[in-house]
Amino acid sequence: MTSRSWQFDNTYARLPEAFFSKALPEAARAPRLVLFNQQLAEALGLDFDGDLAALFAGQAIPEGAEPIAQAYAGHQFGGFNILGDGRAILLGEHVTPDGTRFDIQLKGSGRTPYSRRGDGLAVLGPMLREYVISEAMQALGIPTTRSLAVVTTGEQVFRETLRPGAVLTRVAASHLRVGTFQYAAARRDDENLRLLADYTIARHYPELVDIDEKYAAFLRAVIARQAQLIVDWQRVGFIHGVMNTDNMALSGETIDYGPCAFLDTYHPGTVFSSIDTEGRYAFGNQPAMAHWNLTRFAESLLPLLSDNEEAAVAVAVAALNTFPELYEAAWLRMMRQKLGLQSAEEGDSERIEALLTWMQQTEADYTNTFRTLNDPEGKDAEFAAWHARWKERCTRDALSESESLALMRSVNPAVIPRNHLVEEALAAAESDNDLAPLNALQEVLAQPYAYDSAPSKYHEPAPASACGYKTFCGT
Ligand code: AMP
Ligand code: MG
Repeated sequence: MTSRSWQFDNTYARLPEAFFSKALPEAARAPRLVLFNQQLAEALGLDFDGDLAALFAGQAIPEGAEPIAQAYAGHQFGGFNILGDGRAILLGEHVTPDGTRFDIQLKGSGRTPYSRRGDGLAVLGPMLREYVISEAMQALGIPTTRSLAVVTTGEQVFRETLRPGAVLTRVAASHLRVGTFQYAAARRDDENLRLLADYTIARHYPELVDIDEKYAAFLRAVIARQAQLIVDWQRVGFIHGVMNTDNMALSGETIDYGPCAFLDTYHPGTVFSSIDTEGRYAFGNQPAMAHWNLTRFAESLLPLLSDNEEAAVAVAVAALNTFPELYEAAWLRMMRQKLGLQSAEEGDSERIEALLTWMQQTEADYTNTFRTLNDPEGKDAEFAAWHARWKERCTRDALSESESLALMRSVNPAVIPRNHLVEEALAAAESDNDLAPLNALQEVLAQPYAYDSAPSKYHEPAPASACGYKTFCGT
């Protein structure tokens, strides 16, 4: 067997210099490999030999790499800032044997020209957290950036206390964000904005390259992908936690796993992030926030939509106005599937709302309610009545009982990365150097729709003591 390393072809680095700065990973005292995603490596056509720890700590610049930090801007909790990769370095774009292009990024590898007051570093717990949750999202069938490796650097990083420094290797369709367009727009350089749009279209929406009014079509396509992504999040109870415009990828992938977490008991107001004091990015607010971000995206595109400002605004508004309907329709379709229904019937919305209201009032576990929807046992009379009406509705659906069950099992995960289990596993890894709980958790999360295992601690909701769970930004 011969080894095969990166095949880099760095198109982003050929954009105008305003979009990036050269940056090199910092030296690490004693890199050590903690996690390596063999399956992903194989899917990317990679088979490394040599020192993986040094490789993923960025200690030698691989052949063909052109390390850069990307420039971007972003609305963070509603306030506009000029940003850029302050603690991430893009090594380059790896092209797989089948011709698919992926950004290879080292997160936590030291300061860049955009670091501002930050140290450019990351610590082990949060990098393992991104690894585990992003890979769990992938297994759930939700578009996401991936995680190829986590290394510790041998350096201690100060975060209230001293913690082990770490670098995550992130693999993404690209790191083009809504904030990248806001950055171009803020510089009022229409030529660069057009270059960026053409670049993004070619990379993520190639079917639009040659069509008329392609920038309006691009806007509509980005809107459609985001609507679908948020529907996926709502399906599994994922709360991103920091949906700033710089954390919204134009590829339609979930990106920047910081204070994200999963719903346990159902409540649309659920917020886990310690800094989201006003619930801006609460579970039930995610569609509205996506719409808000897309509005910022549309604003940045205005100079490309028409030479006439009024006409450009009209195009943008018309596109943005499709979002609520698009989202609602996709959400309803998804919720029907969670109920094992294929056909649409009047009254389905009310049926779904009634279930969600019941879940909210009884503080039912979101995942387990859907997983055991067929089984009214142990639930109250109100649920039993709902259950009977739902069963009767099912008889009018085209799907047979077994088909309906199969559909439900394909969209209602049996397991999710439960917050208390993730924290337990990360604590063991970071404090005790014990990766066993993390590996066991990962194994379970790799098959989230497998219903054949006996109920275990991976299915159980958080104990009451975990209520009030808080997450922190992964800096
Ligand atoms: P995030 O909330 O993780 O998306 O980060 C927002 C911005 O802060 C991005 O520009 C990051 O690159 C930057 N940033 C986050 N943590 C650090 C750090 N430790 N050092 C430098 N920049 C950082
Ligand atoms: Mg970010």
